[in-house]
Amino acid sequence: MAKKYCIIFALIVLCLSFSCVAMVPPVYGTVQEGFSSEHEAIDIFAPLDTPVYAAADGVVEEIRIGSYRYDGDAYGAGNYVVLRHQNLNPELWTKYLHLNQVLVTSDESVSAGQQVGTIGNTGNTIGPTGYHLHFEIREGSRQGTSIDPLRYINFYILDSTHPTVQAFQVTPQSLARGELFIIEYSVSDTGGSGLNRVELWRKDERDDWQEIERDTLAGENGPLSGSFTDSPSVSGKYWYGVHVVDNAGNWNDEKNSNTNKQPSSFEPVEVEVNEVVSTTIWRLLNPADFL
Ligand SMILES: [Zn+2]
Repeated sequence: MAKKYCIIFALIVLCLSFSCVAMVPPVYGTVQEGFSSEHEAIDIFAPLDTPVYAAADGVVEEIRIGSYRYDGDAYGAGNYVVLRHQNLNPELWTKYLHLNQVLVTSDESVSAGQQVGTIGNTGNTIGPTGYHLHFEIREGSRQGTSIDPLRYINFYILDSTHPTVQAFQVTPQSLARGELFIIEYSVSDTGGSGLNRVELWRKDERDDWQEIERDTLAGENGPLSGSFTDSPSVSGKYWYGVHVVDNAGNWNDEKNSNTNKQPSSFEPVEVEVNEVVSTTIWRLLNPADFL
């Protein structure tokens, strides 16, 4: 069997024997309480009546409206929906608690992304501002082993922290037209969304600053080092700088002006491109050959 097919076959076996579960985020909001042994779910905060969606294809196993007790214990689930996902491997149950409205009925089949209710604060929540979805995943049975939902759902990480430029330099800073020089950078991000790209910006004596090239980065936090090269075809003075952008859209430049010059600050670098002076050595023909 060809190597490629071996790998595909191995992946299929892995999927069948372990789990290949991908779920839809049940609500567009922020996870403010994560999964722990005391809280076997995640709490996703969003405004009142924000739509709540089925995380995967399934069947409505149970709904409860107007009840503030869950399965007989003192847990204040409020209005809730329980879905059973028989098509998933492993078979899972998902629970959507504290809903304001329930928009499905028992035994109804639902598909991933279908609205099942709206965000509320029914049951045990923290007052009128506590609108959130308590989202739970169970394996084996409706009250089986609890699973951290972040294992199956990729949530967009809220990030308002600017990335930073750790190092920036251009070498050489004076050269002949046609020669190549190198613009080196090192960048990092601590906000959680990861690095998206570094843009190279250039200005000269005629044109204002403009982006002339970009390096796409694959979401790492860094520090990541990279470089650009340039070789202007016209002699004169040029200035170079970089912009670093994270996946949440926060940006910074080499001056780190969005982080009060932290961790360090660099000015745009000036490069002088000199008109080419010929260094060709002309060897004269022997006059004797013309005589
Ligand atoms: Zn909760």
